[in-house]
Amino acid sequence: MPASNTAARRARGDPSPPADFDRRAEMAERRRLLHDLREAIARETFVLHYQPRLSLAAGTVDGAEALLRLPDRRRGFISPGAFIPLAERTGLINAIGAWVLRTACREAATWPGPATVSVNVSPRQLHDGALLGQVTRALGESGLAADRLELELTESMLIDFGEDLLFVLSALRDQGIGLALDDFGVGFASLATLRKLPLTVMKLDRSLVRGLPSDREDAAIVRAVVATGHALGLTVVGEGIETVGQRDFLAAIGTDQGQGYLFSRPVPAAELRQMLRSQGASASAAPRQALTSP
Ligand code: C2E
Ligand code: MG
Ligand code: MG
Repeated sequence: MPASNTAARRARGDPSPPADFDRRAEMAERRRLLHDLREAIARETFVLHYQPRLSLAAGTVDGAEALLRLPDRRRGFISPGAFIPLAERTGLINAIGAWVLRTACREAATWPGPATVSVNVSPRQLHDGALLGQVTRALGESGLAADRLELELTESMLIDFGEDLLFVLSALRDQGIGLALDDFGVGFASLATLRKLPLTVMKLDRSLVRGLPSDREDAAIVRAVVATGHALGLTVVGEGIETVGQRDFLAAIGTDQGQGYLFSRPVPAAELRQMLRSQGASASAAPRQALTSP
């Protein structure tokens, strides 16, 4: 804002901050975040946490989702919701996504047993054509078997998909890589879309799980969605499970797997590795013993 405007405002005794004060603060914050993202890419200082995904019938950890964190001196970690949109807009997501894939595959290759690792993919990675090469490289470098990697896609990236997107997804699937539809139930993917794409997993969005088991409408919707997922041959996963009631309802209607704070928050890599190790040890001592069954 020009100094004269500020002076005029002061002269009027206007105490409220001018609108462009907020805008400038926002822009400064954005510049700082962009700088931090570039630094984190150059120095490889991003961190992945892993949230276990459990079989609802057996209570065992079948896999884990890699969730990105940006370390911050003041705030500890910045969560992806705060920086992924900016990384998308600026194209930095391609470098970040490549790092996530490399790191998650390298980590999963050290896990005892066959647990899968799920990696979130941004629309831009898919549409810029970078994904196939990034995945091939990450698998090649880590030695991880392709069927232990799953990519999480969102409905928004699949609407109006063209032949090229279908080609990329089919090429990934042909290698044995799993393809999950994340946050299902909040987007606009049609059943026709679900049928045409080579998906393997449907993840029910947290907003569908929240009202369970008491909200009758939510319960009816979830029942129908789980049945639809199964009719399409998909493994169905409930996200954001926080209560025993939610878990029991989802298990009773045949939902295959669950993820949520009830079982575990996203944890550092070493902690997840330890969880898998102790599960392996207790499985050989007492088969089918659940890891966490509150
Ligand atoms: P998402 O893929 O749907 O991941 C699940 C989010 O829900 C995670 O938030 C997780 O911490 C949170 N969550 C899990 N269980 C519960 C629960 O029981 N209750 C509640 N309230 N929340 C739960 P997070 O880690 O903040 O990630 C947010 C989103 O950021 C992710 O949603 C995903 O869309 C995106 N994201 C995370 N990592 C990456 C990445 O490496 N690449 C890309 N492109 N996006 C990522
Ligand atoms: Mg996800
Ligand atoms: Mg999700």
